[in-house]
Amino acid sequence: MNLKTVVIIGSTGSIGRQTIEAIEKTNANVRLFEITGIAANRSDLFMQQLKQIRPKGYSFGKVLTDTDARYYADPCHLIEALQPDICVVASSGSQTLRFTVAALKHSSRVCLANKESLVMAGSLIKKIAREQNTMIIPVDSEHSSVFQLIQGERLEDIDKIYITASGGALRDWPVEKQKEATVEDVLKHPNWDMGQKITVDSATLFNKGLEVIEAVEFFGFDKERVKTALSYSSYIHALALFKDGSIKLHAGKPNMVIPIAYSLTYPERLLRDGDVELEMNKLNLRPMDVSRYPALEMAYGVLEGYNSKRITYNASNEVAVQLFLERKIAFTDIFKIVREAINQIDNEKIESIDDIIEYNEHVKKNTKEKWRGY
Ligand code: NAD
Ligand code: MG
Repeated sequence: MNLKTVVIIGSTGSIGRQTIEAIEKTNANVRLFEITGIAANRSDLFMQQLKQIRPKGYSFGKVLTDTDARYYADPCHLIEALQPDICVVASSGSQTLRFTVAALKHSSRVCLANKESLVMAGSLIKKIAREQNTMIIPVDSEHSSVFQLIQGERLEDIDKIYITASGGALRDWPVEKQKEATVEDVLKHPNWDMGQKITVDSATLFNKGLEVIEAVEFFGFDKERVKTALSYSSYIHALALFKDGSIKLHAGKPNMVIPIAYSLTYPERLLRDGDVELEMNKLNLRPMDVSRYPALEMAYGVLEGYNSKRITYNASNEVAVQLFLERKIAFTDIFKIVREAINQIDNEKIESIDDIIEYNEHVKKNTKEKWRGY
């Protein structure tokens, strides 16, 4: 592999930091990657990253002195100016859709961690990737697993895929007690160390709902063929069930450095991270009780309609999680807010990226206004 240039959008976040770790580890023997640009919207860590990495350019909420790197107010302009071989899109939230589009236009590989982009605009993203001849490699662990499980297979030979969920911090709580869950209770994830938004989504299972939509959009499976199961240890990430009766499963430690490194080095596996051992006691699954998790039921529901429903599912959840983190609503209000938002909007096809961005902002604004003083 020749030296590849990399831009990381969301460098100070959980995925961004682990991307830097994956690059340091794969560079240990032969230098394979050069980080030429980083972007984040806040965090003290950013200055430290600029000093350590010494990229050519950066994007941040404000201009920083004490660096030679060139400043770009908008991460899209950073990507456009640097034209990296690889762009890792690891910023959070629906605002990242713009960065994903810029990455598809100005790099040859996009390592996509941001699931919101695919949920909002999956078919358009895939169209832009085809037109630009850009490869998208999923970083989300379950989708990285499915991607690996189906290498060399024909999609028509696959009967179903399963993606797994840990069940999140409240998985052993009785449903009637969930309304009392505090922010601290919810942020204690049993297996993964992730950003706050996705940790709350793991407890509600909105994360799994978003991932079911992501799998349908990215791989093109019908929703009936995308199932979920519980893996309490998060050791099994996904399974593919073939029509001939074979089942392939993909397992490994719950450590995002592994799928991130794979997305960077695919089709090779160049990460070397200690000895790999089979943890047999973790190779078990439990059935998913969908009725316990309204977020999952709603995800399958919004897949029936056009993308206005999927955009609303994601946008209203984003607002609801923020209100919960600000301690303005109860944990179980998140379900109520999303359900009402979905029920209120029309089932429409939003055709362009600009219209999707505008629609998303409109849903977020309406949801905020409605529930702010609640
Ligand atoms: P995080 O909150 O830890 O980090 C988010 C990063 O994005 C930060 O660096 C922040 O500064 C940056 N950012 C946010 N808005 C920005 C903007 N407007 N401009 C520039 N930078 C901006 O989030 P995370 O847990 O790392 O998750 C990032 C994305 O990856 C999310 O879409 C999440 O769903 C997805 N994901 C995360 C994990 C995980 O293990 N953390 C796993 C799978 C998928
Ligand atoms: Mg995931």
